[in-house]
Amino acid sequence: MLKSVIWASMLDYPGKVCTSLFFEGCNFACEYCQNKDISKAKSIDFEKEILPKLIERKDFVKHVILSGGECTICPDIQKIIDILYGKDFKIGIHTNGYNTEFLEKNKEKISYIGMDFKTSFDKYNLLAGRKIDISKIKKSVDFIINNIPEYEFRTTVYPKFVDENDCISIAKYLSEKNAKKYVLQQYKRVDGVAVIPFSPEKLEDIKNKCNKYINTTLRIG
Ligand code: SF4
Repeated sequence: MLKSVIWASMLDYPGKVCTSLFFEGCNFACEYCQNKDISKAKSIDFEKEILPKLIERKDFVKHVILSGGECTICPDIQKIIDILYGKDFKIGIHTNGYNTEFLEKNKEKISYIGMDFKTSFDKYNLLAGRKIDISKIKKSVDFIINNIPEYEFRTTVYPKFVDENDCISIAKYLSEKNAKKYVLQQYKRVDGVAVIPFSPEKLEDIKNKCNKYINTTLRIG
């Protein structure tokens, strides 16, 4: 279910003002997840509470991000995408990349994807908190690079499961796939998790090392 909305965000759709919609539920269980409590929020009726206002503001905000949780597994998501596409909105998706079939099915309707590349492949199970079929992650990376007009791959640098070598291995992998860019995000502390984020200086150093392979930017704060 849809649980939360930010009507005007400058952060979620690169270079655009967008409305961001957040859905509950995820097929991963990352211990640093910022959205664990989203289910407690009251559900929002997209067609009654969101769509009319989106249409009213469309001359100013044409881009809509569907985020989560993992929005691609939400039962309502296909209907919402079809409605938005039919009304000529530009649709962006935030995903962990574990539902390639959904992305493929909506190829024509999605103009932007931000995919979390969680860590190096040998640590994925640890970080995602479940057994991960890496072939699905690889398939989504290939699909996005070859089919989606605008995209980014980003890694939240969670020191417990993501270190310098993990970031560099991802940068190399993306470079070999001819991806355009890579983003490192600083991990923000979560209640009940004792892991301390890397310093900005350390992250800058990792970014510079990744930059040898692929255009890499740092997102802090
Ligand atoms: S993939 Fe994202 S939404 Fe899902 S558990 Fe991990 S951090 Fe949370």
